Amino acid sequence: MTETSRLTLDLDALASNHATLKAAAGGADIAPAVKADGYGLGAALVAGRLWDEGARGFYVARLSEGLALRRALGDRAATIYLLDGVTPGSGPAIEAARLTPVLNSLPQVEAWNSHARGHALDAALHIDTGMNRLGLRLEEAVVLTGAMDRLKHVNITLVISHLACASEPDHALNARQLARFTEAAALFPNARRSLANSGGIFLGDDYHFDQCRPGISLYGGGPRDVPDTRIKAVATLEAPILQARVVPRGESIGYGAAFVAQETTRIAILAAGYADGVPRAAHPRGSVWFDGALRPMLGRVSMDLIAVDITDCDAARPGAMMQIIGPDLPVDDAAAAAGTTAYELLTRIAPRARRVVKTH
Ligand SMILES: *Cc1c(COP(=O)(O)O)cnc(C)c1O
Repeated sequence: MTETSRLTLDLDALASNHATLKAAAGGADIAPAVKADGYGLGAALVAGRLWDEGARGFYVARLSEGLALRRALGDRAATIYLLDGVTPGSGPAIEAARLTPVLNSLPQVEAWNSHARGHALDAALHIDTGMNRLGLRLEEAVVLTGAMDRLKHVNITLVISHLACASEPDHALNARQLARFTEAAALFPNARRSLANSGGIFLGDDYHFDQCRPGISLYGGGPRDVPDTRIKAVATLEAPILQARVVPRGESIGYGAAFVAQETTRIAILAAGYADGVPRAAHPRGSVWFDGALRPMLGRVSMDLIAVDITDCDAARPGAMMQIIGPDLPVDDAAAAAGTTAYELLTRIAPRARRVVKTH
């Protein structure tokens, strides 16, 4: 009997999502976002399969993620983009691991240019077009083109920007960001261009440019933060039933006595809790999937346990596995029930969940 939560990774579903996104992106390259350990699924695992599917560029956030991915990919000639760019003192490590920094400010441009002195290094340039997070403002990009000696030792191979509202096709900011990006990228005519994340790919051809950078929809989340039939579940999180019991009418379940049985209720106690990545905020709207139906969680999520309603479900016996997210319970739905997103749910699946790679 499996006695811990289990995270099953379906790499064929990952490949299918890659093909779906590639087709939707027209002729653009797909450069997967594999930051935060591949959205919690294992960056080496997902990047290895995505390489086999034809991906040649990958995005990480932290330097440590870039170094680990370079080691994992071995002698495969992948371009690994480092979204944090050049932080103080990181130049030598970035160069040694052949990472491509995404330069996010004039000081970062300056730092990479001085590091590169004498041996011309590649970089991507990030233009902020409305998110006000990382990236040069349009005015700063103009300043830069007026002082190209600041880029004397740097070869800008790619210009990127990031959409703030790509999961909302009708949001006015999308078109504004597209216009600003088109203007900014024209300042660097020799560089390739990249704007779209998962949601951006489905905003239309204008958003595709040379390269798209999907993350969440490779891993099973819909591009609009709701389930999408074109996207397959990659991650299945399950937990075994430890015990089935009957709660008499009027008694409560779990911490805080937050649920009181209005009827005699049969419940299953599952070996998963917030220490496995089940959001504590799943109470009171969360469910699991078992034997053809959604079964409501009852009472608060504990560190190691949750209780689930199995009244009238004879198949619910100790040892049986119940699905917390997966093909029958889309990660977007499970996230919404807990007031969060697929991104947060996936990246918080904890090490205690035993990783299994599905083989067909
Ligand atoms: C995380 C990230 C992406 C991927 O976004 P998804 O919404 O997961 O598709 C793309 N670009 C940048 C700059 C990112 O930080």
